[in-house]
Amino acid sequence: MNARPFGKLLIANRGEIACRIARTAHRLGLATVAVYSEADCDALHVAASHEAVCIGPAAAAESYLRIDRIIDAARATGADAIHPGYGFLSENADFATACAAAKIVFVGPSAASIRAMASKSAARTQMEKAGVPIVPGYHGDAQDDATLSAAARKIGFPVLIKPTAGGGGKGMRVVTQPNELEEALAGARREAARSFGDDRLLIEKYITRGRHIEVQVFGDTHGDIVSLFERDCTLQRRHQKVIEEAPSAVLSDERREALYTAACMAGRAIDYVGAGTVEFIADDSHHYFLEMNTRLQVEHPVTEMITGLDLVEWQLRVAAGEKLPLAQRDVVRDGHAIEARIYAEDPDRDLLPSSGRIVEWQTPVQSADVRVDTGFRAGDIVTQHYDPLLAKLIVRAPNRATALRRLDAALQEFAVSGIATNVSLLRELVQHRCVADANIDTGFIERYLADPGVRAVPDETDLVAACAAVLLRDQVQRPGSGSSPWRHTDGWMVAGTRRRHLAFLHRGKRLEATLVYQRDGLHLQRSDSPVPLKVAVRDGGFDFVHGEHKRRAKAVWSGREVVLSTDHGTFILHLVDPFAGDESALSSGHGLLAPMSGTVMRIVADPGSVIERGASILMIESMKMEHTMRAPSRGTLTSLACKVGDFVQQGAELGEFVNTSETQ
Ligand code: ADP
Ligand code: ADP
Ligand code: MG
Repeated sequence: MNARPFGKLLIANRGEIACRIARTAHRLGLATVAVYSEADCDALHVAASHEAVCIGPAAAAESYLRIDRIIDAARATGADAIHPGYGFLSENADFATACAAAKIVFVGPSAASIRAMASKSAARTQMEKAGVPIVPGYHGDAQDDATLSAAARKIGFPVLIKPTAGGGGKGMRVVTQPNELEEALAGARREAARSFGDDRLLIEKYITRGRHIEVQVFGDTHGDIVSLFERDCTLQRRHQKVIEEAPSAVLSDERREALYTAACMAGRAIDYVGAGTVEFIADDSHHYFLEMNTRLQVEHPVTEMITGLDLVEWQLRVAAGEKLPLAQRDVVRDGHAIEARIYAEDPDRDLLPSSGRIVEWQTPVQSADVRVDTGFRAGDIVTQHYDPLLAKLIVRAPNRATALRRLDAALQEFAVSGIATNVSLLRELVQHRCVADANIDTGFIERYLADPGVRAVPDETDLVAACAAVLLRDQVQRPGSGSSPWRHTDGWMVAGTRRRHLAFLHRGKRLEATLVYQRDGLHLQRSDSPVPLKVAVRDGGFDFVHGEHKRRAKAVWSGREVVLSTDHGTFILHLVDPFAGDESALSSGHGLLAPMSGTVMRIVADPGSVIERGASILMIESMKMEHTMRAPSRGTLTSLACKVGDFVQQGAELGEFVNTSETQ
């Protein structure tokens, strides 16, 4: 860097973003300091920086959100700049102020710019004044039910209730009818108070079938501001992004320009400096300002992939007082980029977060067109304290169709065991006709998951691959049995025929095949006659031939569970133990079992009293997601085996629920 007003950068974050920031800082010749909580002593981001300081216990409120400890860490190590990453303190104006007071450069906008956008209500007021289109709605100070109800009626249903201090999709409620309003307001207030310490709400018209389109902007201290094109982040779950791409597949050049103009207007209105994102919700003809994120965004790599720029480098240069590296006319884009967020959450169990130790961790080979940003590796523990983002997989291609294919192929190589991930769902989405046609809206994933009949299921070839995976696993467990890979799995029966029956469960459905070991080698029999099967290990996966066609697959095991990736999809299969009893019997009974590992936040139901079907029993929080356990039927909570504050493991018995509905 030219000016070098700072030489040592403290990165006040963790996970993939801390690693990613360190990479650019090192390339620019800056020394780096990591901070970490007691849960993160062995985390990759600690290894990725030159120095590291422990800033407290696992809970974010005791470590990554402690302004005083982070400033102390910077002082102790002589760091003269701090990059906040995203999440945590990145949009905290008090943190920016504390940095300035300590004479440390905050890599981000001014505290005043952060404050201007911190409240969604204040931001709406300001944007309306600046002439940026906002979603029709109410963002006044009066917060009583009567005022809010009248506002909702005036806006017209459906409406969306949002915490003004919101973020991460928390506390938002879609209300489709007036009679749902009162309960939704109470729920949103409660969640807002708990998550943000502020229960104020705003109401917006809910844009059905909307698309989330955002514009990356960049400002410098010399008064310049440019846009670095848009990103389409329409594929979301729980109002949080899952797949993002650039450019958007649905915008005309005219609409594109209008968005860039509106975004730069928004930035100029608050004298914006550094990287920022102006988010819009768009329907077929309009776009409306949603909010501005005054930080680097999770999905910034897609912009980097189509522009060839390094946005963290831009951030550091701008923070050092340099002019923007490029003028607007010199910023060009090329090709199409897509990012898939690999989350530790289980698509077969309502996308509940999954914590635990990563047993296997295999990522696709990186190249100019395939990028993996992560903060994890095999052996790491994914704790319940932080959000469930494990990695981001970003691909680039000359056009969108090729980018989707490339993403699917790269996802096939992403194999994780030990914890559940959303890779299988990502592949279903990437292969979906509606995604290929860009015929999607922000509700697409939730609608897709609500209809189990449309979910991808393993086909006959996947079953062959699963059998091959069993053979390879046995091979590993039975070493010293030959060296030629094609011989690995055949020929060990010297005479006669032996049959081995294999059964797998996929979301409760049974798949079966029989391996037949004959004199002339191994065969696999499904419904008809046995067909020869050959298997060979290659590049972290294996090739298999059943009949004419050679195919590739990948399998990672964790106990009897295998994550199997073929060119058709990724599936989690359970290998049925022929000597065990019927496994479905295990889940019967009255025990109230924890659906995920996490902390018991609230107990709503009274032991002993009758609970109606669907009523809340208790709430568990893990990885920033709250999950409410509800009564499966009318019944009674006869006993309780946990209390508020307890950490419970997935599957632990939390109490006993006895069904008292008429049908029983
Ligand atoms: P983006 O638009 O970049 O995805 P989000 O608002 O979804 O932004 O959040 C960005 C990141 O910050 C995510 O990893 C999210 O989990 C995290 N995050 C969101 N809210 C909070 C919060 N209150 N405290 C800490 N981290 C948060
Ligand atoms: P957060 O701070 O949690 O990111 P946003 O205001 O950006 O909150 O909203 C999160 C997501 O919710 C958006 O990306 C969008 O998909 C959806 N959303 C927000 N406002 C609306 C709206 N008025 N109509 C439809 N969808 C909306
Ligand atoms: Mg947002």
